[in-house]
This record gives sequence, structure tokens and C-alpha cells, in this order.
Amino acid sequence: MGSEQRAGSRGSQLTYVVNDNCIKCKLMDCVEVCPVDCFYEGENMLVIHPDECIDCGVCEPECPVEAIRPDTGSGLEKWLKINASPKRSRSRAGKYNC
Ligand code: SF4
Ligand code: SF4
Repeated sequence: MGSEQRAGSRGSQLTYVVNDNCIKCKLMDCVEVCPVDCFYEGENMLVIHPDECIDCGVCEPECPVEAIRPDTGSGLEKWLKINASPKRSRSRAGKYNC
């Protein structure tokens, strides 16, 4: 994927995505630091709403299993779609139970 393609709908705005390293994590250190509460519950992992993420990057180092990656990374196509899916839960993360 080229760097011009984004998961969100804000043109050139970057976002971050969560990948499968997150599955069944119960730490949620990422959620605690997100200033805009844009983590949502997925089926068995968290996802980041691409239109709400402000690309601050503070969550990335908080994740101990490197599940949070910039959307410019390679091999993230599947996870970009899952994070951006309109089927994502409307529940913001925080009540997340695996
Ligand atoms: S993104 Fe990282 S810290 Fe956050 S719930 Fe997933 S694995 Fe845990
Ligand atoms: S980059 Fe910032 S706004 Fe986006 S999910 Fe992480 S903490 Fe939240």
C-alpha cells in the first residue's frame, strides 16, 4: 500500500490501526492514554476509529505487544479494513472483556 492511501476519510490525515497482536489482551494501557477515546471494541480485540484518531501517537509505545501501528506500515491492509469497518462496535473501549 502506498503512503497516500489512508483508512480514514480525512484526506492526508494519518491514523493508527490495531492488528491481531491485540487479540485477547486485557491490559488496555492504550485506552488509558488516548486523549480522544477513539478505541472501540472489536470482536476479540480493540480497534481505532480512523476518523476520530488524531494521530498523536501516544498509544503506540504503551502497547506491550506492538499491536498499534501507523497506517503507513506494510502488511496492514486487512487490519486497516477491520479498524475502519462500519461494523465496528459502537461501544467505546473501557468495558472490554475478552
Ligand atoms: S492495543 Fe495493545 S495494549 Fe491496547 S488492548 Fe490491544 S494489545 Fe492491549
Ligand atoms: S494515535 Fe492518539 S488519538 Fe490515535 S488512537 Fe492513539 S492515542 Fe488515540
